[in-house]
Amino acid sequence: MSTPTDTQRMEKIVSLCKRRGFIFQSSEIYGGLNGAWDYGPLGVELKRNLKNYWWRVVVHERDDVVGMDGAILTHPAVLKASGHVEGFSDPMIDCRTCKAHLRADQLVEKKGVKQCPNCGGKDLTEQRQFNLMFETHVGAAAEESSIAYLRPETAQSIFVQFKNILEVSRKKLPFGIAQIGKAFRNEINPRNFTFRSREFEQMELEYFCRPEQGMELLDYWKEERLKFYENIGISRTSLHVRNVPDDERAFYSKGTYDIEYDFPFGRQELEGVAYRTDYDLSQHQKASGKSLEYFDEETKEKVIPHVVEPSAGVDRTVLAMISEAYTEDQAPNDKGEMESRIVLRFHPRMAPIKCAIFPLLKNKEPLVAKAKEIVALLRPDMTVFYDESGAIGRRYRRQDEIGTPFGVTIDFETLGEKDPALRDTVTLRDRDSMKQERVAIQDLPAILRERIR
Ligand code: ATP
Repeated sequence: MSTPTDTQRMEKIVSLCKRRGFIFQSSEIYGGLNGAWDYGPLGVELKRNLKNYWWRVVVHERDDVVGMDGAILTHPAVLKASGHVEGFSDPMIDCRTCKAHLRADQLVEKKGVKQCPNCGGKDLTEQRQFNLMFETHVGAAAEESSIAYLRPETAQSIFVQFKNILEVSRKKLPFGIAQIGKAFRNEINPRNFTFRSREFEQMELEYFCRPEQGMELLDYWKEERLKFYENIGISRTSLHVRNVPDDERAFYSKGTYDIEYDFPFGRQELEGVAYRTDYDLSQHQKASGKSLEYFDEETKEKVIPHVVEPSAGVDRTVLAMISEAYTEDQAPNDKGEMESRIVLRFHPRMAPIKCAIFPLLKNKEPLVAKAKEIVALLRPDMTVFYDESGAIGRRYRRQDEIGTPFGVTIDFETLGEKDPALRDTVTLRDRDSMKQERVAIQDLPAILRERIR
């Protein structure tokens, strides 16, 4: 089912991302490199918070998952065995009128006739397969023996290292191996901002099990993954589970579903969860001639484990978080008049900057000194931002726009000038409700730690 798209909203998001330093076009000053993006100072924090939280819940908070970090350069034999060299391709068609290269599924059909979506041209080439892998050459000589690929997914290094990791971790089935890292695909048409890029990051878990546990675990990961997205601030109502029908599924998969999100450009995949049976390990065992079996102590039998794979995209999830957080509402300015404001309602745990610190006036030394003390107090626990310039309302607005959930203002009451009982207290402002509470400076680290965890 498709959802209505909102082009204007998407344009505002792209523009905010550039203006405030979340995401820039890669190589922009040279005209840009299509399908590649650079994350700026705020984007890198947001992305890192996402990856760290995934790692925390998938690896650190579980007894049954360990991590790894594999190489991007991949031996061709690995990708031959996995089927990528032969089959990792998209059907492609060219439009002879406007010369566009198109994925076959992007053609539009009018009155039963296929047309180019760009120019409406009907003079189209035959369909041909286009391999999405980036090939490179390793070493000084460019002969065939030195071909390597930039990995098209992180999963294969997990399968290839399965035996080593099994031996060192001494895990019993079911257990998982997790990895976060870059993957590369020469997408025919990168589009929708970072949604479809040629260089992107994945967060993948290969969860190995006995054959009879596969279907049950495929179901188990559904709730776990949906909970994950809720815990990073994406509402359940914007998430959808799409069961991939038999004819779209890889031939070795016994079940696959996609977790989709309602992006401004439509409902699209964030993560794929696939029960891949023993396909990958069997293929690598066959091709390498090395045993990738697991010895089951209970039954005294050797088995090739089956695997359930939740595979999520970092960049798509970052984009989903920004899309979900983007809000326009009304807030009072310094004169109490209502003005429209842009606010990114990030979950505090994901926000790039957790707390902004504002001395009420920049030319009052005791206020500035106190503010800097608070910066030093909070910095070991969170990212903070110090801002002393401009009217306080404007400073709040600047932070709202980048999604900083808390603001601390140091005023004359902090100095005890009005009421000695208020000495060493500050106002703590909440981004979403704009409510302010008076709290003791010494309580700030604990209060904020609790809210951003
Ligand atoms: P799509 O159908 O959108 O091309 P896919 O089904 O090929 O995606 P998978 O191979 O299942 O994707 O990869 C797992 C995850 O990696 C995807 O759910 C997505 O989040 C991410 N991903 C895949 N391709 C891209 C890309 N070109 N740009 C950004 N993220 C990607």
